[in-house]
Amino acid sequence: MAGEQVIVGLEVHCQLDTKSKLFCGCSTDYRAEGPNTHVCPVCLGLPGTMPVLNKRSIEYAMRVAKALNCSVLPESEFSRKNYFYPDLDKAYQITQYDKPLAEGGYLEIEGDEGGEKRIRITRVHVEEDPGRLVHMGNAERGRYSLVDYNRAGIPLIEIVSEPDMRSPKEARKFLNKLRATLEYLSVFDSEKEGSLRVDANISIRGSERVEVKNITSYKGVEKALTFEITRQKNLLRRGQKVDRETRHFLEARGVTTSSRSKEQEHDYRYFPEPDLRPLQVQSWVERVVLPELPDARRERFIAQYGCSLNHARTLTGDLRLANFYEKVVSPDPAKFATLADTWISDTLIGELNYRTMSIDAVDPAGFTGLLDLLAGGSITDKSGIEVLRVMLDRHRDHQPCETPAAIVDSLNLRKVSSGTSENSPACGMAHNPVQTAIAEVLTEHKGAVEDYRKGKKGAFNFLVGQVMKKTRGCADPGELNQLLVEELKKKET
Ligand code: ZN
Ligand code: MN
Repeated sequence: MAGEQVIVGLEVHCQLDTKSKLFCGCSTDYRAEGPNTHVCPVCLGLPGTMPVLNKRSIEYAMRVAKALNCSVLPESEFSRKNYFYPDLDKAYQITQYDKPLAEGGYLEIEGDEGGEKRIRITRVHVEEDPGRLVHMGNAERGRYSLVDYNRAGIPLIEIVSEPDMRSPKEARKFLNKLRATLEYLSVFDSEKEGSLRVDANISIRGSERVEVKNITSYKGVEKALTFEITRQKNLLRRGQKVDRETRHFLEARGVTTSSRSKEQEHDYRYFPEPDLRPLQVQSWVERVVLPELPDARRERFIAQYGCSLNHARTLTGDLRLANFYEKVVSPDPAKFATLADTWISDTLIGELNYRTMSIDAVDPAGFTGLLDLLAGGSITDKSGIEVLRVMLDRHRDHQPCETPAAIVDSLNLRKVSSGTSENSPACGMAHNPVQTAIAEVLTEHKGAVEDYRKGKKGAFNFLVGQVMKKTRGCADPGELNQLLVEELKKKET
């Protein structure tokens, strides 16, 4: 479908996680004490006030620029972007325009065609956030709107990409990678509502470009883009053309609607902000040191712990998850590295998503305890999942947490073995419990035994299942298989 190539570019606004606002000392904690409590003459834009630049926010912005492989310009400049909107009390936004903080970088993502793909970054600039409008009533029938200026003046960075993404999935991967990078840099709190907002430019090659504004969730980006691609392709198939316009994404309905024709840049009457001097960072930028970033950590996880590429990607794609992994394996990396790699990536993440719980809810030491039981062969993988579920459910329900070993004992989950007698009583069964169970199953299900002799593969699995049921999942699967084969052979002779 060469004629229908999808082209996506993103503009991402991220709140920098500073204590105070960009040009005044007001707190950035915009929900703490109700609306319009963290405001002052500067961020309310009263006449005669002067902005004073927050140094920390420039430090943070430079970290981001460097991590995105951009060149930080020795001199950048703030401008006034003039427009009227109720959330913009001054009727202009202080932002960077002609001379942004940084230009020309890239971020690597896992591309649709596999392997790393570079998404070029056009520019990174600093600006202030406007206030927040709260619409009373519902989306269709708004009664009136309230304005909260607590958010006005919070430092933002705007990151503009080149149109290098070719699908909604690549756009989502770009955002995930960007979020991870910002978190590794300790400049961003993704848990804060509205901390990341996306405008997406999308077109089908050869036709006009549409801008979808103000998408506020990561999932929203993929949904909005998928909707737009279908809409634009349908127009083109009917021989109509796509209008160049700005559209809004209605998250609840999963659709975009036309909002207005796009303003031209000259409508904003940009001019240099007369109350701020040009920003000179030439010697400062060299002193900005970056921590280990997601790509480097991913490679380290592969080299140091032997993680698979996919698991290493998952684990390091989220700062808290990566920290959790390293805490879990730290008591004995040689023993836990591989187990933790699969148990976190394949099992724990799924169980957390199912409960909409975050990794912060899991105690690393408790998880190491669980892996220890698995490593020592005390419980089967199946029991391990059961113990994990109990641990998570108790945490979710605010019940006291027990150690994994205590949960294993209270649920009688210690592995049943036909061999040594010391293992067997824990499961409350007589000795040779697996053999006893096999003997019972073979007499109870003569039909299945017949089927097995006739060569029906399903019959064997059925018998395994029955024995598992009798031992309540505590039988070692390898041993069970082996004993069952032996017993069936005996019956043949
Ligand atoms: Zn203020
Ligand atoms: Mn902007």
